[in-house]
Amino acid sequence: MRVPFVSFRPLEQRLDSQLRAAFERVYASSWYIGGREDEVFEKTFAAYCDSKYCVGCGNGLDALMLPLRALGVGPGDEVLVPSNTFIATALAVTYVGATPVLVEPDIRTYNMDPARIEEKITASTKAIMPVHLYGQSCDMDPILAIAKKHGLFVIEDCAQAHGARYKGKVIGSFGDAAGFSFYPGKNLGALGDAGAMVTNCEELAGKVRALGNYGSDYKYHHIYQGVNSRLDELQAAFLSAKLPMMEEVNADRRATAKKYLAGIRNPAVALPFVPEWAEPVWHIFAVRCERREELAAYLEEKGIGTNRHYPIAIHLQECYQNLGLQKGDLPIAEEIAATQLSLPMYYGMTDEEIQYVIDCVNKF
Ligand SMILES: *Cc1c(COP(=O)(O)O)cnc(C)c1O
Repeated sequence: MRVPFVSFRPLEQRLDSQLRAAFERVYASSWYIGGREDEVFEKTFAAYCDSKYCVGCGNGLDALMLPLRALGVGPGDEVLVPSNTFIATALAVTYVGATPVLVEPDIRTYNMDPARIEEKITASTKAIMPVHLYGQSCDMDPILAIAKKHGLFVIEDCAQAHGARYKGKVIGSFGDAAGFSFYPGKNLGALGDAGAMVTNCEELAGKVRALGNYGSDYKYHHIYQGVNSRLDELQAAFLSAKLPMMEEVNADRRATAKKYLAGIRNPAVALPFVPEWAEPVWHIFAVRCERREELAAYLEEKGIGTNRHYPIAIHLQECYQNLGLQKGDLPIAEEIAATQLSLPMYYGMTDEEIQYVIDCVNKF
């Protein structure tokens, strides 16, 4: 049997007529940027995130960078980001000229450890950027309390966690702003690059919208030196076709995770830990194994695709040598980078495929 690491086919087949209708609708309108589709999607996605405003962006990186810029974070400022995340979280900070300061995660949840935040706060710290990594929420209460105590902004990186909940409340609704990615492989994926920022602050939403539209508030009138980062009509239409399926998609991933958690029994493989307050959406099913490369090769041989998220910790990336950190400085991030393996996880996996993955992992 072959089980790919990810497949978009089951969801695309399920939504085939809706996706084609979305294309036809936009194509028939001959209107491709900044219109009705964008407006409709923004409105429904804001509601989905229990937020007042949503501003479509070109991608997830911009959806994180633009609110940082709008909040006035820039050169000389520091932003706390987890040491274990996709590089884009740190790049959003660098993009505005600020410095990412890496906070170690809790090895059990893989997410930013609230107990390690305060030791990294300096007079230059302006914001905390918690990442709900792999689809599971961070422990938001202590993070929000620390932010309040020190007067810091909170910008949630929700790129992997559309619809995940913390103590019953949907992520993206906790901070000053939240950035989402609709990269095709995310739980809510466009058919190309796309992203969105959500917030409850009208002023911030307006500023992010202007910044992403050449800094323009109305046509040919420019108040900021902005960028071009907009959600185009086609992607907005595709996303509107997929959004009504979100709860079903997340429930399907949860059911797969439940089977993995119940079925995988191998002392060499550490399963993900879910605190009682988390309702993850399982963007990634992350296990850890000391013999990670051997396990990956074994599964590959059995026809099972896997991935590593992420094999090189941010502070050891060539592009971040300027942070002045060395191997050994962030041991938890390094441990995860060396041992983490992602098992197949996508909407529409069959029971047979799931069981095959479980059996193979158990036989390793
Ligand atoms: C995917 C991702 C991003 C960036 O999103 P893009 O749409 O690819 O720009 C940011 N943060 C995290 C955690 C991600 O997984």
